[in-house]
Amino acid sequence: MLIETLSVFPEMFEPVMSTSILGRARSRGLFDFKAHDLRDWTHDRHRTVDDEPYGGGAGMLMKVEPIYEAISELKSQSGSCPPRVIFFTPCGEPFTQHVAERLAGFERLLFVCGRYEGMDERAYSLADERLSIGDYVLTGGELAAMVVTDAVVRLIPGALGDSMSSVDESFATGEDGGLLEYEQYTRPASFNGMDVPPILLSGDHAKVDAWRRRNAIERTCRWRPDLIDSAGLTEQERAFALDLIARMHPHEEME
Ligand code: SAH
Repeated sequence: MLIETLSVFPEMFEPVMSTSILGRARSRGLFDFKAHDLRDWTHDRHRTVDDEPYGGGAGMLMKVEPIYEAISELKSQSGSCPPRVIFFTPCGEPFTQHVAERLAGFERLLFVCGRYEGMDERAYSLADERLSIGDYVLTGGELAAMVVTDAVVRLIPGALGDSMSSVDESFATGEDGGLLEYEQYTRPASFNGMDVPPILLSGDHAKVDAWRRRNAIERTCRWRPDLIDSAGLTEQERAFALDLIARMHPHEEME
């Protein structure tokens, strides 16, 4: 997989792309990364990428021409495998684990990062999709691109190594998925008067699995009851969850 970014701060990416799991996946050739400088597609002495908005208002907007030229050139160089072009904006589709899994299926991704007050709307005519990483406003799309890269790369087979798994964790999207992950503990068994749940020390795998499943449901009901609706639950589990939600959140309307 090749992940490329187009932004005015290409130097922001390297430390993240060369550290820990991402760095290892990259040096093993599981993905390659290139950060392009949008200013390379400007033609004036000041390498201008922004201008004032028509209609007035605060701040500057990114100009359409350098973005257009850059994406066209990067696409034309990519031969028979054009990149999936993804623009970051708070007005995009919310980024989720489902979206990460979908993006992990592409050979090439090109992330386009805004700055200032955003972009000339015409730039989006080149977007295959628009993504938001949450309902808040960042100063630029670079961090969003890093968040998405991190979530996508750890799904590439082999990226996490043998000791970790991306199957059995929060938001896992298998048949019985869609829950937050269960609580986990490591040594010591007792710390400051807080004990590890005894079942986890029992060595009885069936009981441990049952405890974890129930704990995942309880945690999801407590912290993210909105996930229960689409989680993969048996009828019995769903009844248990709805009852828990009614007791944990007595004053909130749930569908
Ligand atoms: N004026 C815009 C925000 C611009 S923020 C608005 O109100 O919608 C500048 C840039 O940061 C955006 O172009 C986008 O690339 C990036 N950005 C900010 N918040 C983001 C978010 N939640 N998700 C993805 N990208 C974001």
